Amino acid sequence: MIAENIKIVKKNINEALSKSKFDNDVTLICVSKTKPVEMIIDAYEAGERNFGENKVQEIVAKAPLLPEDTVWHMIGHLQTNKVKKAVQYAEYIHSVDSLSLAQAIDKEAGKTGKIQKILCEVNIASEDSKFGLNEDSLIDLLIEISKLQNIKICGLMCVAPYTEISEENRKYFVKLREMMNKINQMNIENVNMNMLSMGMTNDYMIAIEEGATFVRVGTGIFGERNYNI
Ligand SMILES: *Cc1c(COP(=O)(O)O)cnc(C)c1O
Repeated sequence: MIAENIKIVKKNINEALSKSKFDNDVTLICVSKTKPVEMIIDAYEAGERNFGENKVQEIVAKAPLLPEDTVWHMIGHLQTNKVKKAVQYAEYIHSVDSLSLAQAIDKEAGKTGKIQKILCEVNIASEDSKFGLNEDSLIDLLIEISKLQNIKICGLMCVAPYTEISEENRKYFVKLREMMNKINQMNIENVNMNMLSMGMTNDYMIAIEEGATFVRVGTGIFGERNYNI
């Protein structure tokens, strides 16, 4: 089932890329939160290498059970006390939304000589229920992060509103892309981003048409999640 689902998602990705006006390279992140390691191994065996979790504990538990070349993405809200493990395991942290968090990441990365790749999370539809920054605080934060030695700012991430009509989210993906371009043009030292982490099961094709470079697909690969077990 998982290999079949991946085939379908890959086909959809290629179709969306053919419609995209941008020459974006897209990396599929298989979002495996709440799912058992056996399912991740199925996806690995189907050729996938990038996996996303929203809890550091799940990465810590699963990572040792997968081959070394598995690439982990921390996509959920990150608490400062979990930063050490996040830096140890995650190739990318997509959810940076405060200076204190960035400083903690910088400090941990510095201890091990790692340059931690991050994206900043934007609350693109200004939803009360979501984490992430608005544009003004994003710019302020980027200026501060750009001075940190052990962090590389790669791009921006958003979680668009839940909808079954994916077209409704196009405006938010456009907005995130335009925000990134605008900030790049401000010529802030050490801030030159090229990654957009946007699009989930319901809307990744639209996100790709608008320039996504990472799409985060959970349900479309692993099926519905059950949070009650
Ligand atoms: C759970 C999650 C996803 C995947 O959502 P699906 O709708 O299952 O594809 C993507 N991004 C983040 C940040 C998530 O927490």
